[in-house]
Amino acid sequence: MSILETLKPEFHQSFPRLASGHYVHFFVVRHSQSFPVFQTDGALNTALTQAGLNSAEEKSNQMIKRLVMFKRKQVTPERLAGRQLLRSLGFTGVVEDEPNYCEYNGQKTCKRCPDCILYGFAIGNKGAERSKVYSDSTFSLSAYDNSHKNLTFNAPAETGTMSDRVRDRVIVRSSINDQAHVLPEVVFLSVETVRDTTFEGFIYVLGNLLRTRRYGAQESRTGTMGNHIVGIAFCDAEIFSNLYFTQALYDALSGDLNIPINNLCRMAATVAQEQLNQEPVLRRKVIFGDDLENLLTEVKQLYQDETRLRETIATLCEQTQSYARTYGAITPRQEESQALGS
Ligand SMILES: [Zn+2]
Repeated sequence: MSILETLKPEFHQSFPRLASGHYVHFFVVRHSQSFPVFQTDGALNTALTQAGLNSAEEKSNQMIKRLVMFKRKQVTPERLAGRQLLRSLGFTGVVEDEPNYCEYNGQKTCKRCPDCILYGFAIGNKGAERSKVYSDSTFSLSAYDNSHKNLTFNAPAETGTMSDRVRDRVIVRSSINDQAHVLPEVVFLSVETVRDTTFEGFIYVLGNLLRTRRYGAQESRTGTMGNHIVGIAFCDAEIFSNLYFTQALYDALSGDLNIPINNLCRMAATVAQEQLNQEPVLRRKVIFGDDLENLLTEVKQLYQDETRLRETIATLCEQTQSYARTYGAITPRQEESQALGS
């Protein structure tokens, strides 16, 4: 039997309204492949953190400045990859007047497609759905000083001119960009989680992780990154943070970070398992090593097979539409009164 088949009993048949403690954690090694830019205002985001977790060890105990990749910089490209898939298979519309059109983060958000239900939405006072996909800021394994470079280059806009249209205003850009870029082969560790999902929702979120290749500022067009899934755990609660994961790996490598990515991924898998064993959570299923390789191969094969992919996503769309019909889009007011128990 395929490993995906054996996993099916772990999932809900339909999306439940209330959190029911079924968490799937993906342990991800994000590995830069060129020069991504994760900044908002000209400078890369950094944070001062302890290098490792071992306070008795001088190297581990030192404070180092790390690059930060905020949550939004991770999840937005993954959502967009999923939304593109939905459109390419015809499950959501490409133009605005189609009935199944879904606008990302706007007034025409459909509130029922897999993206809306799994990743959530909030449209002013017209309703909101909490995300079932949890992620958080992630920090470079290596120190900032070894992880970035200032690059200067010409950056004409799409039209070939040096101006750009931002919210209907034409902005003339400086002809030379001098920006701090992340270097190739910088590693960020993430625990990305999907809560209370169906099997098809799991395939969708995992597919988005595997199929997203570009992170960071879109205009730079240089932000290629690879996501290595090094483990998957089915638990009844949330587990350790991205920073903790990063610091634990730093210790496991004794601060010697210049090792080939495959070795690093193996170490990250070992560290994830060790840390998982110390968490006060029920581990329903833990997938590493050969089982994980087989699972990822099966998922890749599914994404290569249009018939199976279409069936899977069609089922997912039925599930999210049924969820939307049954529970509707919860308005902030309703949610508030629910929280108060009234
Ligand atoms: Zn939608």
